[in-house]
Amino acid sequence: MGLNEMTERVGVEFLHEWLLEFARVVKANKDLLTSLDAAVGDADHGINMDRGMTAVLANQEANPPGDPAGLLKQTGVTLVSSVGGASGPLYGTFFLRMATAAAEHADGLDAAAFAQALRAGIGGVVQRGKAEPGDKTMYDALAPAAQALEDALAAGAPLTDALQQAAKAADQGRDGTTGMRARKGRASYLGERSVGHQDPGATSAALLIASAAASATKIIH
Ligand code: ADP
Ligand code: MG
Repeated sequence: MGLNEMTERVGVEFLHEWLLEFARVVKANKDLLTSLDAAVGDADHGINMDRGMTAVLANQEANPPGDPAGLLKQTGVTLVSSVGGASGPLYGTFFLRMATAAAEHADGLDAAAFAQALRAGIGGVVQRGKAEPGDKTMYDALAPAAQALEDALAAGAPLTDALQQAAKAADQGRDGTTGMRARKGRASYLGERSVGHQDPGATSAALLIASAAASATKIIH
């Protein structure tokens, strides 16, 4: 195994850093997420995500899992059980599906396995929420991110660079939701009046991918 492969492994250390960073940026953007949700929903997305990620970190500290699948599963279970609203079950399912994909990689995931796990997580979001591209949901940030990650890895980029590309694509996807008419979740009740507002869930999803990129830069050298 080459040095690059050795150092590109996504293990518990990376996942811990990712969740720590996501919790940090969710807290820093709590008011933004809630005000975006005030425009198209019920003004609780920042509160929901902050409560969920605070619980995730608390559980992680009280009962630190020893392998990637365990950490991802604990995260998913915590989000499902601590967050009311659509985003809890959706993000929870995302991490639970990532956990299932990570189960056979107790020593860490290489870049390809991590991309597959991300895909599996997004597949869970779709299965649970039935979102399609353009419905103005978190899926509109997550799907382009997964695509960009896969494309960059296929072109030979190291995982850290590929995650930077994914974060860029997630930001663009998030920005794209502003012009969309919501067809899922509370925002869909607004119909045409949802157009012109950035989707809160796509905004938190872009933070999730940006956090992965930031953690990779820190952990995977
Ligand atoms: P709630 O809508 O129950 O108050 P939140 O405010 O926490 O929950 O989350 C709202 C976000 O959840 C939306 O901005 C959207 O991105 C996402 N969302 C809602 N329904 C779906 C769905 N069916 N599929 C994917 N994402 C969804
Ligand atoms: Mg809401």
